[in-house]
Amino acid sequence: MDLRSRQEDYINLNPLQVGGRTSANTRLMVNSYLDGYAVCDQCSGALHQIPKPDIAGLTAKMANFLGADLVRFTHGVREAKYLLIKALLKKGDIIVVDGNAHYSTYLAAERVGVEVYSVPNSGYPEYKIKPSNYRKAIRKVKKKTGKMPKLLVLTQVDGQYGNLVDAKKIAQIAKEFKIPLLINSAYLAGRTKVNLKKIGANFIVASGHKSFGAPGTIGALGITKKWVDKLFYQSKNFSPKEVELLGCAARNAAIIGLAVAMETIEERIKLWPEELKKTNWLVEKLEALGEIKQLGEKPKQHDLVYLETPILDKIAKTKRKRGYFLAKELKKKGIIGIRPGLTKKIKFSTYGLTWPQVKYVYQAFKQILKEGEHGI
Ligand SMILES: *Cc1c(COP(=O)(O)O)cnc(C)c1O
Repeated sequence: MDLRSRQEDYINLNPLQVGGRTSANTRLMVNSYLDGYAVCDQCSGALHQIPKPDIAGLTAKMANFLGADLVRFTHGVREAKYLLIKALLKKGDIIVVDGNAHYSTYLAAERVGVEVYSVPNSGYPEYKIKPSNYRKAIRKVKKKTGKMPKLLVLTQVDGQYGNLVDAKKIAQIAKEFKIPLLINSAYLAGRTKVNLKKIGANFIVASGHKSFGAPGTIGALGITKKWVDKLFYQSKNFSPKEVELLGCAARNAAIIGLAVAMETIEERIKLWPEELKKTNWLVEKLEALGEIKQLGEKPKQHDLVYLETPILDKIAKTKRKRGYFLAKELKKKGIIGIRPGLTKKIKFSTYGLTWPQVKYVYQAFKQILKEGEHGI
């Protein structure tokens, strides 16, 4: 095994990784909690009640941050979604999700034997989810199956286009039909504040390693009061252990990392408007180079960028390395994180980069295009 040094030595544009970069302080603290069961010194039966290290404080703080009555930690967003679907639904039940939903939503449903209907997006080039289409989808399910969906799921920001959907509008529709609504905020909460109660939904899932700068893996499931007994009920024989969590989920380094990250969360979210400025600046500048088109909504309300890049594809055809030339040229310039081999469409994020770094990324692309067009 070799030591890994990516964030340290390169400008990393991998959208999956940018929101999970850890601080030096997080790395230091986590190191002291690496030994097995290190968080359990003062546990009296439930992880979320541990006073030292202050997991109880973290649990309350996360509930407050997400605008939930209660929060529990899981190993990730997918585990949180599975927990919820498993606890509330049964085989043959139906859920309605948006057309940009993450594969793990489908897998969580599949594991329980729940059927999934998706609300189509608007297609090329914006691929937007129109809230009112949830109403249509619910009616369609009822007409086709004779049953109402048991749960609605909204991917607040999706992992393909980085589109932000107006969750409040979908919450209104959920209330109209009296169907509970889950907000999948894996890509948003932690970058900025997302408030379950203000949205008016019932559940929210968030990802520590996706958006809170935590090492993880760790997810948070936030719920409103009404659902506590259905989701976080205690074992008959092993109280206060909660059955759906199998007693406790994310522990040790994962939860310590999140606790440290949460200490500076208020400063982190203040940077969000500037992150969006950087994103939209770079998109505009790249599009101006020609034969580059941003997919997804415009202007962007999230840092995940998906570009259609026929110009890069054209250049790739003239290169010995074909599609791999781009990743190779970028790496020479100290930039990584764009999936090697792909040039028709590329995905990246500048989240967490400084302005000079964002400008450097632009110059790097500009130079690669210029040299490519001249066959250098
Ligand atoms: C990353 C992501 C997930 C998965 O999150 P985990 O915490 O790793 O399970 C789920 N949904 C969306 C929309 C994502 O972007």
